[in-house]
Amino acid sequence: MRVFAASLATETNTFAPLFVDRSAFEGAFYCPPGTHPATPTLCSGPMIAARELAQREGLTLIEGTATWAEPAGLVSREAYESLRDEIIGQLKAALPVDIALFGLHGAMVAHGYDDCEGDLLAHARAVAGPTCIIGAELDMHCHLTDQMVEAADVINAFKEFPHTDFLERARDLATLCLRAARREVRPVTAVFDCRAISGFMTSQEPGRGFVDRMLAMEGRDSILSISVAHGFQAGDVYDVGTKVLVIADGDLGKAAALAETLGREILGWGPGGGVPRHYKPEEAIAEAVRLAEPGRPVVLADRWDNPGGGVAGDSSVMVDALLKHSDIPAAIGAMWDPVAVGFCRAAGVGAEFRLRFCGKAAPTSGHPIDADVRVRGITDDLLIPFEQSWVSLGPAAAISIGNLDVILSSTRAQTFSPPVFTNLGIDLAAKTLVVVKSSNHFYAAFAPIAAKVLYLDTGGPYPSDTRKIPYKKARRPLAPLDPNPLL
Ligand SMILES: [Zn+2]
Repeated sequence: MRVFAASLATETNTFAPLFVDRSAFEGAFYCPPGTHPATPTLCSGPMIAARELAQREGLTLIEGTATWAEPAGLVSREAYESLRDEIIGQLKAALPVDIALFGLHGAMVAHGYDDCEGDLLAHARAVAGPTCIIGAELDMHCHLTDQMVEAADVINAFKEFPHTDFLERARDLATLCLRAARREVRPVTAVFDCRAISGFMTSQEPGRGFVDRMLAMEGRDSILSISVAHGFQAGDVYDVGTKVLVIADGDLGKAAALAETLGREILGWGPGGGVPRHYKPEEAIAEAVRLAEPGRPVVLADRWDNPGGGVAGDSSVMVDALLKHSDIPAAIGAMWDPVAVGFCRAAGVGAEFRLRFCGKAAPTSGHPIDADVRVRGITDDLLIPFEQSWVSLGPAAAISIGNLDVILSSTRAQTFSPPVFTNLGIDLAAKTLVVVKSSNHFYAAFAPIAAKVLYLDTGGPYPSDTRKIPYKKARRPLAPLDPNPLL
């Protein structure tokens, strides 16, 4: 058997003023055939899973390109078409193939393409033919479209948020595609559209128990795979919103019934039922001071300034708030300001000077901070782990303003794990509170060192209030913009 694997992924915040061209892919993560490292990035899990499968089962693997751009705004037409044509050309050259595996995100929007992944999979189907088993792994924050479902035999999304399971789900995908290619199973797919913009975290209830039950249902009673596409609310596309996808072995009615049952369960939590309380800056600081323990800070997540959601990551709102509490030992990172990083690196460790930093990328990102700073640490590359992958924040600096330590980075990436701070000499155990620029991916690595994790509402720049997002393309009715037509 011959297997092809490739990966093309980013997450597009159509409201963000940060545009993505081909160099954004090449600069972030770009591996021509055969050069993918032994560890996966978030969306290239199928490449690693395909290697493992080929080794274990004695299959021939033909690797295509794998690439990823940090989430931002619209992708250029040239970037998408050139990367698509590169991968489809590689697939064509690899024919005949029995299985084609794709590591995708599912919320990539390019100029002229609201559904890049559906378009890519349709091209793959046209080239590989009707009998090739086509499988795609998606991030759960995808826009699940009919075009994707029609073109692919198997779609499997991450189940966990934080996404601790991207490699596990890629292995599930590869295994199921092999079984389908061997005609041991006949995957049929049903989708239930919740007609709602919602979402949940699996680091807490009710999401935790829900996903545990999903996992327990797979592989039993002819249910092969269950995915919840939470959706990505910062993408103005027709299919934005939450959908449940169930793959059964030959029994479409059973798949449809289960998809609807699970979808209605999510709707039953009500709007915002799957997400925790969000604190305004002042109440979050007060709560952190109350809850912090000796050696264990409270971790505050600046969810709406998370580079992983396509925004800049330079919001100064929390720095401003913390500078009013100069007695509180605190740290915040990583904040994106390549110019300020350049100043700090040139000045060197120990230098003291007046620095202007951050608060520039959007009107809702606060204002630039002017402060007397001391450079505590510098690095040529702030490299941090996230599950099985490594993420670079580029050249970076740690600066101190009294009791407040700030990590400045020159590459946009979210604060996945404590080495963002510790690699630059910041001792988190000495802090009362630590602010991280991340929505929830920080959780797995930060929760073990935290007295408590709290979520912040700093007002932007991510479009956080779903009732007020100015969608032009979303299908209607769609809750909470409209009453849910299913309820
Ligand atoms: Zn995601």
